[in-house]
Amino acid sequence: TFATSSSLFNETNTSTTSTTDSNDSPRTITLIPGDGIGPEISNSVQKIFEAAEVPISWESVDVTPVKSPDGKFRIPLRAIESVTKNRIGLKGPLATPVGKGHQSLNLALRKQFNLFANVRPCKTLEGYKTPYENVDLVTIRENTEGEYSGIEHTIVPGVVQSIKLITEHASLRVSEYAFLYAKLHKREKVTVVHKANIMRLSDGLFLKSARQVAEKYPEIKFEEMYLDTVCLKMVQDPTQFDCLVMPNLYGDILSDLCAGLIGGLGLTPSGNIGENGAAIFEAVHGTAPDIAGQDKANPTALLLSSVMMLRHLHMFDKADRIEKACFDTIKDGKVLTGDLGGKSKCSEYTSEICRRI
Ligand code: NAD
Repeated sequence: TFATSSSLFNETNTSTTSTTDSNDSPRTITLIPGDGIGPEISNSVQKIFEAAEVPISWESVDVTPVKSPDGKFRIPLRAIESVTKNRIGLKGPLATPVGKGHQSLNLALRKQFNLFANVRPCKTLEGYKTPYENVDLVTIRENTEGEYSGIEHTIVPGVVQSIKLITEHASLRVSEYAFLYAKLHKREKVTVVHKANIMRLSDGLFLKSARQVAEKYPEIKFEEMYLDTVCLKMVQDPTQFDCLVMPNLYGDILSDLCAGLIGGLGLTPSGNIGENGAAIFEAVHGTAPDIAGQDKANPTALLLSSVMMLRHLHMFDKADRIEKACFDTIKDGKVLTGDLGGKSKCSEYTSEICRRI
């Protein structure tokens, strides 16, 4: 059966002008510092949360895979127990081996906790010059199936098959989330992105499900568009888009394109949303091995992910304060990391944000 709206969504108040937090009692959050620059940027977020006196205690866990009795590598039990107990996690990037070794940990976490929607807001940052102005869109990607179902096999040597799995349940669930998100964030339009002209059955089912949900939200404009047309229009004028919902693979690619429109991966946050309020928030970028351990990383994407997390937890006041301090630092332009054209270290940028809180 299909989950109810309330179990899909945790944010009941998205006001940016709220002055008090609805819940100031301490809350334990699972922290997965991750690999590469992960520990540096996680440390930066922790420092900024301390400066803002966010009532949160961190439970740091290591998700390095361990060999289980069946010989397979799995996420350590302690990490699974921690997220299961706390329901909310903040995660640094994890290194993924290509084509061999253990399954992608990111994928394993999504499956383990049924994190069905990946939400990526992309908004132009004031004071940071990009080719486009006034971009303000959100991509909502189905996170559990499609081409990323992990069903692959060799038929005969030289011929492999990967299954694209689309279910009505998951398509309805992510569509419902997209419309609820649009409604609660006062957004006007949802665009469903698809290729139902080619993938008639699979994308056809996704599209049919989105149409079905759209009927329940007559106040929100509904638009259907082929993926290739979206790509064309996105680079011509991204301001024509508002909220976009799509199957897994399309979302993976399109959301990176959208991140590029607002200044790159170092600035883009995301949330992986599960049912009944469970969620893991993470930066869009990877482990940046080329600058790891050098105090050069930009912690903004993880920080803005943690701001999304605070809103998910209804701590709107803290979220607004941290976000403002971060945006003001970028707008001011004096203390910026290398990727933003500055000369400052990650630790200096972090201190500047703390000073502004
Ligand atoms: P990457 O995002 O790590 O790096 C791409 C480029 O962007 C590099 O030049 C890097 O220095 C720069 N960059 C990224 N984040 C930055 C930041 N916060 N501040 C400043 N510069 C930053 O992508 P990649 O090199 O393709 O991937 C490296 C590893 O990360 C791979 O193992 C990959 O699988 C993994 N990865 C993990 C996640 C995740 O955990 N969610 C996401 C993407 C990639």
